[in-house]
Amino acid sequence: MAVVKLDSGYNIGVTPSLCKFIEHPKIEPTKRLEVTQDKKLSELSIISTGGTIASRIDYRTGSVTSQFDASDILIAIPELAKVAQYHTKSLYTILSENMTPKIWQDLAKAVYEEIKRGVTGVIVTHGTDTMAYSAAALSFMIDTPVPIVFVGSQRSADRPSSDNTMNAVCAASVAKSDLGEVVVVMHATTNDDFCAIHRGTRVRKMHTSRRDAFQSIGMPPLGTVSYPSREVKLENFAVQRGIHKLALHEKLEQRCGMVQFYPGMSPDVLKGYEGYKGLVIAGTGLGHVSTTLIPGVHNLIESGTMVVMTSQCMHGRVCDRVYDTGRDLLTAGVIEGNDMLAEVALVKLMWVLGNEPNPMKARELMQTDLKGECMRRSAHGL
Ligand code: ASP
Repeated sequence: MAVVKLDSGYNIGVTPSLCKFIEHPKIEPTKRLEVTQDKKLSELSIISTGGTIASRIDYRTGSVTSQFDASDILIAIPELAKVAQYHTKSLYTILSENMTPKIWQDLAKAVYEEIKRGVTGVIVTHGTDTMAYSAAALSFMIDTPVPIVFVGSQRSADRPSSDNTMNAVCAASVAKSDLGEVVVVMHATTNDDFCAIHRGTRVRKMHTSRRDAFQSIGMPPLGTVSYPSREVKLENFAVQRGIHKLALHEKLEQRCGMVQFYPGMSPDVLKGYEGYKGLVIAGTGLGHVSTTLIPGVHNLIESGTMVVMTSQCMHGRVCDRVYDTGRDLLTAGVIEGNDMLAEVALVKLMWVLGNEPNPMKARELMQTDLKGECMRRSAHGL
């Protein structure tokens, strides 16, 4: 299949036998463009990790590949130069399905170093698929006095409907704002009118392809950024700049897993987690698995695996005291995951087990709100 780019910006696939190929005149490599930075503006860091925001179509395969580094992003989005001056660092050029806890640690160290250097805020460009995991991981790994802003795009730069410019410009505006926590900034609607600011521990990608795919779960967004005016509005529950002192706690226990319960699930599935230090179960409703799985859960806990129960429901909190299956899980030693999203509970479990060797204290930490991930009361009836 040959891919032909139309003037409209869209691509079509054509069977090569129907095409007439003409030799293209030799193209001289273009000189690399340099971006003029305004030294009077505040300094932000851009740390790039890859994803669609750093991608274009590869005409060899017709698929999207992650090719830009952080300084290419500045060239591709000249509007960024109106917001701030930038120090760029290219950490990875990967699609975010290839992220690992080890990369979260590298990223946390790189972000920490930039903040230590005194930048006003840090922007992390990232693939959207696992951006919420990385944002949660950095929320636990770094106490930050300045904004750490994750941003991505759902459509690559060479598509007419790309969301890369608006998302990046809004992210830079948030990185200069009065905020002092880890957030995700992405399109709030399908129009190019404003972005929402989501807390790093309470956000999920809720749609595979829409530009407004990201939503805050269990709480409203921390604020908005209008476009093109770049006006940032923060809610009073957003953590303010300067509240936390900079600190890095990058240790993670990587032998942790997550499993989603389904009707008829075999207890053998749990055997695969023998030897793991932690396991998050996304249970049904208030936090259940079938009676047939409870002995397996008990065995895991007896042999030293910390098991945390979360819910497949998007809203509400786990309560294992209502039904007998829940009470049996509590007797087996399961920890109720409150209203944490399952993936956030997993990242938190890695962090808690990596930093707290005392099992009783680790258990307590899993039930304590550390970075807004686990709220005492669900906000606004959510
Ligand atoms: N698969 C891509 C990634 O997460 C999608 C994206 O960037 O939007 O890296």
